[in-house]
Amino acid sequence: MSETKNTPLALQALDSQHGTETVVAFEHAVDMAPHLGGLAIILDDKRGPGFQGSELGLAGSYVSLNPSADYYKDAIKSGKTVARLGEFSRFFRERGIAPSTNELITTAFLHELGHADNFQEYVERMGGDTVAAFRLAKEVRKSQIATLPLKAATSRAEAAWTSNESGYKDKMRSRGVTDEGWAKLVTRNTEAYAALSCEKVADRFALGVLATMYS
Ligand SMILES: [Zn+2]
Repeated sequence: MSETKNTPLALQALDSQHGTETVVAFEHAVDMAPHLGGLAIILDDKRGPGFQGSELGLAGSYVSLNPSADYYKDAIKSGKTVARLGEFSRFFRERGIAPSTNELITTAFLHELGHADNFQEYVERMGGDTVAAFRLAKEVRKSQIATLPLKAATSRAEAAWTSNESGYKDKMRSRGVTDEGWAKLVTRNTEAYAALSCEKVADRFALGVLATMYS
């Protein structure tokens, strides 16, 4: 087991606030993928969890997490997490745990680490050329997202709908999309997003780490 002394402060703050075990989760992830050991992790209450790759490779990359409990409660209430996290819910329920906010935070964190691990695979595939790896990873993701019903990640499409960005909502309305129709589209988009191979690979990593945590 790796020592906790290098564990990002962000995770300690998250755990003391929520009673989560993201420090432990990170240790298990690093045991499985040592290259993640130095990864920067930041807290940002303005957005959902994410991985931001860098042309410098993992050294310039970071995972961001939302520290606000309300963010996760809203996600659960909206039904989005149900559409997104079926396999994870099963994992916890099979172990007698009713998944709630804390499991969602841990799962989201490990999923983003999965994106970081996948990015490292691109770097290795490109023979250590981090710029080429960054571009390729971005290209692959972009082409997969273009296949979604809303042609964008759900959070991005929802933001465009809510703020009517560049008349997005007006355009959808003119195509006959009602509020109810929009809600259905969002669910379909979220399910299709979860099924993208660039997302599946991050889920597999997260489930692999969870299996070592709960063994
Ligand atoms: Zn993802």
